[in-house]
Amino acid sequence: MITPTALFAFDTLLTEEEREIRNTVRRVCDREIRPHVAEWFETGELPARELARTLGSLGVLGMHLEGYGCAGMGAVSYGLACLELEAADSGLRSLVSVQGSLAMYAIWKYGSEEQKQEWLPAMAAGERIGCFGLTEPDFGSDPAGMRTTAKREGGDWVLNGTKMWITNGSVSDVAVVWARTDEGVRGFLVPAGTPGFTVNDVKHKISLRASVTSELVLDGVRLPDAALLPGARGLSGPLGCLNEARFGIVFGAMGAALDCLETAIAYAGDREVFARPLASYQLTQEKLADMALELGKGLLLAVHLGRLKEAGTITPEQVSAGKLNNVREALEIARKCRTLLGASGITLEYPVIRHAVNLESVLTYEGTSEIHSLVLGKALTGIAAFH
Ligand SMILES: Cc1cc2nc3c(=O)[nH]c(=O)nc-3n(C[C@H](O)[C@H](O)[C@H](O)COP(=O)(O)OP(=O)(O)OC[C@H]3O[C@@H](n4cnc5c(N)ncnc54)[C@H](O)[C@@H]3O)c2cc1C
Repeated sequence: MITPTALFAFDTLLTEEEREIRNTVRRVCDREIRPHVAEWFETGELPARELARTLGSLGVLGMHLEGYGCAGMGAVSYGLACLELEAADSGLRSLVSVQGSLAMYAIWKYGSEEQKQEWLPAMAAGERIGCFGLTEPDFGSDPAGMRTTAKREGGDWVLNGTKMWITNGSVSDVAVVWARTDEGVRGFLVPAGTPGFTVNDVKHKISLRASVTSELVLDGVRLPDAALLPGARGLSGPLGCLNEARFGIVFGAMGAALDCLETAIAYAGDREVFARPLASYQLTQEKLADMALELGKGLLLAVHLGRLKEAGTITPEQVSAGKLNNVREALEIARKCRTLLGASGITLEYPVIRHAVNLESVLTYEGTSEIHSLVLGKALTGIAAFH
């Protein structure tokens, strides 16, 4: 027998350091996350602060950033950490992606020196949590339509508007909020507890239940000029952050798929149907072979994109291609694995249905699959079909 990753000699593509990082994150997930994650998912409650500290001491928060207490690791190392975290649960990887690739990256890339010193070391350690508010109730795929405004009043800024579907919202110490100004879209750091800033959790989710999702309400929130991210002007600011987080998803989605496939292979070996192991039937083997192929191709694509990112040549279209393909295939793998588990496949005793419903969110956030298709369509034809 050979594992799905060994089939593609996946490890030969990785350096020793990368394998080491992958194994360390896997060990911590096995010890600290896997025993509890089904319960967090079922109750919809996450010990986010405790988890952030655990992940901070593991060094995965903002691990691809340089300086300010961040680990300064390569893109493939970061991707492998996302893969292992998402093999545990997409909600956990979301916490890490939003903290590191959206909130911390925005501060690291566009912030003033004071903002970086104030927030990044504490966020890297998991002592403080951040969120990223771009989406609004009426504007998700088309953030250019955002209604949240920031107006200058004397030396201050006053923010009004609502952000929706914000990961980590109610557990955050700081929200990176994108708002329309007279100078175009600008980013602001809004500390929790600022007067006029309230946060309400989204309830009744049946996907990403082991993740906090919130609405941010800004009602006359007054901020000093020092809260403005000086380096970000226009939508390219938030879109640059999203590109970082999407890259992590290219690997992460394959982690969820791998966990499903490993579970299904083990289950099919143990489960007897018509007096023989389920794994011994040709229909089962065809499913397993097809899934291993898609998984292997997705992993190869992820590492290839990681190497391009490390070389500094990766394009947003390439990240779109990776996100579109790998999330779509991961979802298909999760669904197919679910069939192999029969009725057991619908319970939280196995991780498969949890991954499947989580991946529905992953398909939608960080650019829906349709939007990434349109990005590729534009790249291939030169014609934008968004409007
Ligand atoms: C669990 C979760 C966590 C999230 N976390 C965050 C977060 O931390 N921060 C944040 O800012 N946002 C977050 N989001 C929001 C997410 O990014 C948006 O949901 C996403 O961008 C889609 O926007 P929408 O839900 O408004 O859908 P819509 O934009 O209304 O899209 C609805 C449907 O229309 C399709 N569509 C849109 N435009 C076109 C077009 N031109 N042609 C064809 N079809 C089109 C879409 O693909 C989709 O199928 C999160 C979402 C979820 C579910």
